Parts: sequence; C-alpha cells; structure tokens
Amino acid sequence: MKKLTTVVLSILFISTAVFAQTPTRATQDGHTNQNKFRQLKDVLATPNTQRTASGAPGKDYTQQKVDYVIDIVLDDAKQKITGSETITYHNNSTDELTYLWLQLDQNKRAADSKTPDIQPSKIPEGTTKVRFDKTYINKPFDGGFNITSVTNIDDSSLSHTINQTMMRINLPKPLAAGETFQFKVAWWYNINNHRVEGGRSGFEHFPADGNNNYVIAQFFPRLCVYDNVEGWQNDQFWGRSEFALEFGDYTVNITTPSDHMLGATGVLLNEKDVLTKTQLIRLAEAKKSFDNPVVIQTQDEAIKTEKGFSKKTKTWKFFAENVRDYAFATSRKFIWDGMAVDINGKTVMAYSYYSKEANPLYGDHSTRATAQTLKTYSRYTFDYPYHKAISVDGQMGMEYPQICFNPGRPKADGTYSDRTKYRMIGVTIHEVGHNFFPMIVNSDERQWTWMDEGLNSFVQMLAMMDYEEGYPLGRGLPKNIVDYMDGDQSRIAPIMSKGDNLYSFGSNAYAKPATALWILRETIMGKELFDHAFRTYSQRWMFKHPTPADFFRSMEDASAIDLDWFWRGWFYTTDVTDIGIKNVKKFYAEAGEGDKINFVEDTTKALKFESAKKANSKFFYEITFDKPGGLVMPIIVEYTYADGSKDRKTYPAQIWRYNDKEVTKAVYSNKEIINIAIDPDLETADVDTSNNSWPKKQKSEFEEFKSKIKG
Ligand SMILES: [Zn+2]
Repeated sequence: MKKLTTVVLSILFISTAVFAQTPTRATQDGHTNQNKFRQLKDVLATPNTQRTASGAPGKDYTQQKVDYVIDIVLDDAKQKITGSETITYHNNSTDELTYLWLQLDQNKRAADSKTPDIQPSKIPEGTTKVRFDKTYINKPFDGGFNITSVTNIDDSSLSHTINQTMMRINLPKPLAAGETFQFKVAWWYNINNHRVEGGRSGFEHFPADGNNNYVIAQFFPRLCVYDNVEGWQNDQFWGRSEFALEFGDYTVNITTPSDHMLGATGVLLNEKDVLTKTQLIRLAEAKKSFDNPVVIQTQDEAIKTEKGFSKKTKTWKFFAENVRDYAFATSRKFIWDGMAVDINGKTVMAYSYYSKEANPLYGDHSTRATAQTLKTYSRYTFDYPYHKAISVDGQMGMEYPQICFNPGRPKADGTYSDRTKYRMIGVTIHEVGHNFFPMIVNSDERQWTWMDEGLNSFVQMLAMMDYEEGYPLGRGLPKNIVDYMDGDQSRIAPIMSKGDNLYSFGSNAYAKPATALWILRETIMGKELFDHAFRTYSQRWMFKHPTPADFFRSMEDASAIDLDWFWRGWFYTTDVTDIGIKNVKKFYAEAGEGDKINFVEDTTKALKFESAKKANSKFFYEITFDKPGGLVMPIIVEYTYADGSKDRKTYPAQIWRYNDKEVTKAVYSNKEIINIAIDPDLETADVDTSNNSWPKKQKSEFEEFKSKIKG
C-alpha cells in the first residue's frame, strides 16, 4: 500500500512538471518509466463528433464562412488607405450567437496601443540620432484604424464596442444556427513605413525616385474564428502571435494611381482595363512557359513608369474564392514576371513583382523558387488548389493567400553573394509554402505558432533540396538545434506554448518542430510511413481548422506507430537527447559440466583470443547505455569490427520503458567488436557526444574548452 502511494504521487508530480517546464535533463521518475510512454489521453482534448479520435474531422464538423465585398482606395501622396466593406457572416455552427468579434489588427499601431507597454525596456548605452528622435522626441506614429461607421445592411447604425485590437458587433437579435447576418464597416488608416516602423505590411519609400512600394495586409476589419475549441478566438493581437481566420469569398476593388502595377489575392476580373495590350500578350506567353519565367513588365518599362506620378486612378477588380485572408502589393516600380507550373496536369501560375533594386536576384530566382515550392509542397501534401502564387520584393518575410512578401536585394552593382541568394530563396520558399500551412491547412496561429511555422519550415527543407542539389540546409537539421535545446533551461519553453510568450521565437516555433518532424521522417518512422501520415493529415484538414491533437492523432493513426512518447517529450517538455555508453563487458563461452555452457567475463586480451576458438568464434558483449538526457529516443548504434567492417542497429525508444536511466543489451557476433558509436550521423540532436563512443574518445581541445565554459 505504501509503495502504491509513492507511485501515484510521483506520477502526479511529473504531470505538473510537464505542464510547467521540465527543468533539467535529469529524469524525474526513477526506475519505472510509466510517465514517458503514458498515452496523451490526459493532455489532448477528448475526441468528439467534430474531431475524431483518429485525428480526422468528424461527421458533425462545422466551420463558419465569412464573405467580404471590399472597396479600397490607396492615397499614394498621403500613404493612407480608405475602405468600406460589406460582410456576410454565415453561422454554420450549432450555436446561437448574440455578438460577433472582428479583428482590428492595425490598432496594434494606434497611438494608445498597449503593445509598447508590455515590452520591457532599458536606457541603452548609446543610440543613433534617427533612433533617438524616433524613441524620445517624435510623437509615436499613429497607424490605428479609424472606424468611421458600423452599420446594418440598411445603413442604420449597428451597436459595437472596441477593445484594443478587437471589435464586438452587438447583434440586433440573436443569430440562430444556420442563419446569415450582413453588415457594413467603413474605415481609414495611415500606412506605416515598414522599414522605419517595422510590421507585417506597410510601404517602403525610395528617396532616389520618390516612389513607394506598398505591401498591404491586415488592412480591413475581419472576423475572428468561432469554433468548438476556443469559442471566439479573440486573443488580442500584440504583434507577434499571428492570425486565426475563417474561409470565405472575397470581392475586392482596389483603386490606385493609374500608373501603378499591382498583384493581389484572387482572379483579376478586369485585366483589359488595367493592363496594356503588350502586357496581356506577354501574360498569355507566360501561361504557356513551363521552363522559364516570361517578363510581363520589363525593367526598362518600370524605370519609365516610376517617373510618372499620374494624378489619375484606376480600379483593379478581384474575386478570390475560399481564402482565409486577403493582401496586395502595388507600386509604379514593379517589374512583373511569371511562369506556368504543372501540378498534376493542372496549370498554376507563379508570379513575381519586384523593383529594379531587387534585380537581377528576383529575376533569377523569385518565380523559379515560387514554382518549385508549389511542386514540392503539392507532392508532400495535396495538389495546390489555387490558380496562382505570387512572390513580392517586400523587404520582409510575410505570407498571405496566393501572395507573400520576401526580402533580399543584390548589391548596387547587381552582384549578390551566395549568402544573399540562399537567404532570399529560403525565405521565398518558406513564405510561398505558407500557402499550404496555414492558408489552406488553416491552424490557429494566434495560439499555436508551431503548427504553421514548424510544419512549414520542415517542408521548406524538402523544397530547398529540390531547388538545387546540395542546397545548404540550416534550420531543421538535428545537429543545428543542439545549442538551443542545451541552452539555459530557464529561457526555454516547450513547443506547446503560445507564440507571444516565447523566448527564442525562431528556435522554439520554427526550428525545433521542424527538427522534430525531420527526425520522425528520417529516423523514427521512415520516409514512407511518415510521408503517408503527413499527407493524410494535410488532406484531412485542407480548408479546415486543425488543432495540435488532430495532427498528433493523424500521424499515429495513419502509420501504426505510437508516437505519444515523442509528442510528450519533444512538444510538451524542454528535455534534451543525451544517450551514452556507460560500460562494455566482454564474455566468452566455455563448456561446463554436462551440457552446460558458461559465459565467462573476458578481462584480458589473451583470453579473448582463446575464447574465439572455444565458442565457434562467437564474441559476446554486454553493453550498458546510459541516458543523462530527459528525452527517450531510439539508440542508434554503429559496431565496428576488427576487420574494419561495420554494422548498424537501431533499438527503438521503447527500450527505455522499464528504466529511464540506463539499459543493458546483450550483443554477440562472429567478429570482435573494436568500436561502438552512438548516433554516428548526428540524427537525434544528442547534446553531448563525448559519451557516444567506446572506447571513449579523447576530448578535443575545443570540446574540453566548451565543457569548461559550460561549467
Ligand atoms: Zn513563416
């Protein structure tokens, strides 16, 4: 009875420790290992008829639909946007709603924004004049939404309340399940210079020619997600954790100066009104060019156009079906090229818009990288369902449906380093890849940054390898996550944390989950089982709203591999991999009394030679592996024999189920083993390789130095 109490208590203690931060690489559960292989039933939401235990959407799965008709006017002289919209909200849930919540993301830039207030700050040792003026002298930039009207469809006023970046529409009468509500909002706001103020959209000013490149998003009040997981997902937008959005159809009319070139989400409905005859001819050529981009607006033409500053305007008319958001980019400076991409027999277009400052880097790689992304991602998930994908020279990395903004410019003389090239291609693949996660597999970014960034960073690696042989992969490789995972544990949070609250945002939400998936594919599940399961998850949740549980469950359900221990360790704790060889004992077998055979520990070299002759040249070993790291992981062992030949053996992670600290394995062979190495290809993110071999390797001077400074 006493013993039972201890066990129960220790399990309780462990589960709270998992939710908080598991502090060290030490294991907390002594010699039994019930915790690390325990199923996640107590952690994941209970399956229901909307989200099944298999990880698929259930028979009663619903999601809301929100359609927008938006009219936008861009004032280039004042860098200002004025807009009005009619929103049609379809309540597909089974619940009656008494209010709707809208996101007012631009209020993060309002004069009274609380975002700067939650940022700890110090007086620096020094600063630049520009920064000094911006921080201490100038009035802060006011880029918040000015909501000029919120009305019913008949223009009567509609009650509403604004709370920072959220606006509640108080419905005149409850909206029953299955009903639709229409209303209108009008607004304007000052566009931020994103090169000065930062941000996920804005404009870049070019003093040399006086033009602005606009990359515009979060420019309209848009609905929050309502579902059976969060109710209303109306967590404030603080600037870092991104967005949760419903799918819907968008009719968008954008009025710009008449000499602007523009790219946007959706099908351009009036191309004859806004493009020249020459541009239309080249566009038609691009739609047939599968090998090389066709330039539709040339650099020379763009240079001529950027001198114009027309006072006239034109209106670009778009329709986008089943998208979760809307964005556009516009400028006089834009060069435009495009090429056709064959996705399983369907032609999709890859386009780029860029200023001459980004050429020839963009001309060389932007559209090609976009095309490669669509091909690779389609292979690992589902056929890209939209008609196009656009990459814009936006001097930031940010994604929207069918369009994204990317960084990277060559030097003034037009040359660029490999570093610039690979960074630009890497970000472009990443941002175009976001079309799949989260624009189509529409996870809740406000809550779970890793669900889109982690999955996307992983497929990004596969696309980079497809783009160019020997492409230098960085983020996502197991060996590259070691420094982060082995860092100061008080500054590391589990992957299953909200993006706003993370330290080391990139390592936590991008690199570590990408590494986790890389390890699943390369080491734990194998390519075939992983790829099938990953595709299953992607296709199940295409145009839907998955949660982490839906991902975890789908990966297991489609592969017959219990991964709860992996999710628990890699996603819910900050434990690290560290597996070592503690001890190796050698034995020989010799005849005993009657038909008995005795194993005798072999302590000298002379005996070993004899033993070979005695027992059919068999060598016997007892290898004790220890595990200073908290993560349970497979033990990948390479045996090297006296004749120089090698063997590999992987013991699955379940080998740790009885004892989390060490495990002993009997091994026999026909050849003498002279060397044993754990994880020889650095597949498991083992944080300390000094204990990975037998006989123990001498530490290099550098390793000695490293372990000294770590203390
Ligand atoms: Zn991203």
